[in-house]
Amino acid sequence: MITENLQLVEEKIRMACQRSGRRREDVTLIAVSKTKPVSDIQKAYAAGIRQFGENKVQELDQKIGQLPADIQWHLIGHLQRNKVKYIAGRVSLIHSVDSYRLAEEINIHAKKRNIRIPVLLEINAAGEESKFGVRPEEAAELVEEILPLDGVKIQGLMTVAPFVSNPEENREIFRAMKQLSVDIAGKNYDNVSMDTLSMGMTNDYEIAIEEGATMVRVGTGIFGERVYV
Ligand SMILES: *Cc1c(COP(=O)(O)O)cnc(C)c1O
Repeated sequence: MITENLQLVEEKIRMACQRSGRRREDVTLIAVSKTKPVSDIQKAYAAGIRQFGENKVQELDQKIGQLPADIQWHLIGHLQRNKVKYIAGRVSLIHSVDSYRLAEEINIHAKKRNIRIPVLLEINAAGEESKFGVRPEEAAELVEEILPLDGVKIQGLMTVAPFVSNPEENREIFRAMKQLSVDIAGKNYDNVSMDTLSMGMTNDYEIAIEEGATMVRVGTGIFGERVYV
């Protein structure tokens, strides 16, 4: 089932790229494997997927040790400062930086390892109470605060769009995210890139691609519904 799902998702990504005049290689598919067993990840791995997303540090920590070393792991969920030490140097990208204090903690662990840790700033694009992330109008300020932390490499923005029945409802949000990343890129901050725009999930990744997503995070569409116990 996972293999078939991946083929379908791949086809939809390809079509969305075609519709919007984008190249397929400019969009990275992240398979969101949270709550799913290692055996499911192995199936997706066998089908060629190398980028996986998890939202909990402990689960990520357990899975990394059981899976091939050439997997690139993405931390996509809210990150508590006291958990940074468990993932520093082990994930290829942290998508969920939404405060200076968190960036500061990431910086400490980067310095210890003599590395720069790539991060995205999480934006609460629709201003939902229940969501993490900074408001769009605070994003440039957060970039400026984080700039002096040379263990932290800002690579772009991430958002979790609202859950909507019709994905078209999120088009404006994705468009505004793209514009925000262009605006911040236009400020030409040293050592800040806005190359990555992580947006779009199972319900709305095609729209997100049409509006400029460079990473889409697809869970249910690949692994099926999640069961929380
Ligand atoms: C769970 C999750 C996803 C994937 O959601 P689906 O709707 O299952 O595709 C993407 N991004 C984040 C941050 C998530 O927590």
